[in-house]
Order: sequence, then structure tokens, then C-alpha cells
Amino acid sequence: MALDRPLDTLHFRNVHAHSNDQDASSAPVFCLAADSDYTVRVVAPTKTLTSKRSSRGQTFLSASSSRSSSDWIERKVRGMQILLVPALAKLPWLVHGFSTRPGGVSLLNGEKVLNLGFTEWDSKESVLENRRRFQSALGATDLKLISLKQIHSDVIHLFDAAPAEPCRGDASVTNRSGLLLAVQTADCVPILLVDPKKHAVAAVHAGWRGTLQRIVVKAIGQMQMQFKSKPADLLAGIGPSIGGCCYEVGSEVATQFQSQFAEAPEWFDEFRTGDEPNPIQWLNMMPPGHQPPPKNVLLDLRKANRGQLLGAGLRAPNIFVSDLCTACRRDLLFSYRKEGAQSGRLMSVIGMLT
Ligand SMILES: [Zn+2]
Repeated sequence: MALDRPLDTLHFRNVHAHSNDQDASSAPVFCLAADSDYTVRVVAPTKTLTSKRSSRGQTFLSASSSRSSSDWIERKVRGMQILLVPALAKLPWLVHGFSTRPGGVSLLNGEKVLNLGFTEWDSKESVLENRRRFQSALGATDLKLISLKQIHSDVIHLFDAAPAEPCRGDASVTNRSGLLLAVQTADCVPILLVDPKKHAVAAVHAGWRGTLQRIVVKAIGQMQMQFKSKPADLLAGIGPSIGGCCYEVGSEVATQFQSQFAEAPEWFDEFRTGDEPNPIQWLNMMPPGHQPPPKNVLLDLRKANRGQLLGAGLRAPNIFVSDLCTACRRDLLFSYRKEGAQSGRLMSVIGMLT
């Protein structure tokens, strides 16, 4: 049974400022802990929350219905290969991009890679230089990069300005220009959202926990509440992530999805909760309690998130899904499942030019 609650009854956990990351801007704003409302709003100290954005003329560009990554734009700059969604690239006031592995200055097993997250094996200087190159290649040098301290939660931040230190959470939304919202992944699903009519954007990190908590639906709920976005207007890009070909999870994960989503069986290759009687158990000649553990199942996280986007009201032709699998394409991407602590981080970014 699906537990489809109306968006206005969803609640978000409080969050607190985090001080370990090193890429903070100089703006003296901090992650604020909300008491009981929906999200954490990060504001510039001298601005009110109601400053108006100028309404610039824009045209809604209807999107292609194709969802193959072969239709994505691959921009090659200084050895980097950046993936873009054509329908998003057409918006002149928008910048966005999904990074890949090649290029950059980080050395990983003798290979130069574009690692965009702070990891133990890489230096802070290399990551910052990679981020500079990535932003430059996107034409987003003047935007303030806002990355998160990701915690596999459903915490969403609403940014009116860049915080002094990265906030803990897994999605960010804004309708302010000059900010570049970022999520980092190495198997999890990065989702970028844009409202071409209201000029608002969101970046979402959805692993299995975030997907189970419907983080992308909640981010859309925030866009509806804060910016009066209509889901039918939104465009969504689901970037490279671990595919249903490779993402093995335990049967307990399948059970949790089954309890939350009516369509969950469509997201698993073979739906098992572990509770089913084994039809050939008698052949194993094993006494009860000594059967082998239930087989793991393959979860298609992209399909799950695409399903949630459709459920939230996005139009199918406005959802663009990369079919690149991080685990299959270690030549092009990073996979934590395959590389472990030696994995780099991909970054997916979206923002509006000033
Ligand atoms: Zn794969």
C-alpha cells in the first residue's frame, strides 16, 4: 500500500551547521536550525526574505521525449567531459552540468581524474582546483558553489545566499541567481530540477535512503510552497548513477520499499521480501532455520526516482534520465560500490546566471 501523503503534511528534520568542509564562501551566513517548519532557510544577513526577482522574459521549451543518455550533450573542455541535458542547456539564464571522471588534477592510481569531493586519498587543493575548472567549463565562474554535507536524509535547504559552511542535508532549492547548487555522488542518484517559468532550481541527492524518504518529491513540494512552482512545468535531469544492472541490496531494503510504494515491485529485478516460503526447501534437506539467507535483489534507483517525479506531477517528456551506470562505466564515472574509499566524487550542479 502506498503512503501518499499530501505535500503540505510532510515535515523536515532540523539541521545544524557543519564546519568540516573547506569550500565555504566568505559570506557571513550560517545554516540555521528551524524549529518546526518545513525546511532550513539560509538568508543573507542584510536582506529580507521578500526581495523580488526581476521577471525576465523566458520561453518554455518543450522537451524531447527521449530519455537515452546518447541524446545528452557531452561538452569536452580541458580534458573534462561534462554531461548536459539539451532541454536545460537551451535556457540562456540557466547553467547546469553533471561531471564525469576524466580530466582534472587529482591523481588516482596514476590517472588524472576530476574528483570534486573531499576524500581521504585526495588533497584539498586538488579538489578546489577541480571545482574551479568544472565551474569555469560550465561558464559558472561567478556563481557561488553551494555543496552540502550529505547525510542520506530528507533534509532540504532553501538558500537565499551562500552559507559560510556547508549545511548538512541532501537537497537544496533556490530562486536566487548567482548561486550554484551542487550534490556529490558516486553511485547515488543526482537529480537537477528547474522551473522555467518561475525561475527556480533544485539539486537532489537520492541514495536508497533518500529515495525511500521521497526526497525528490519533498524538494518539489518546497518549490511549490516557496516559489509557486507547478510540477507540470518542471524539467528534471537524472544524472549517471548505479543502474539496476549493478545495484544489489538486501531483501530488508526491498521490504521497506514495499511498505512505502505500491509500485515498488517494478523497481526490483526480482521482488523478494525474504518471507516467502522456499518452494524447493524440502529438496535442500535442511532443517528450519538453517536455510541459506534470502538472495539479494537488484534495485533500479533511477526508475524509482523517475516514478516519484511522475507521481509528483512532472510530465514524462520533461524527465531526462541518463542510462550510464557508475559501476559499469568506471572508465567514465566514479563508483563507491566498486572502488570503495578510493572512489572520487561526481558533482551535479545547477544555478541561474545573474
Ligand atoms: Zn551497471
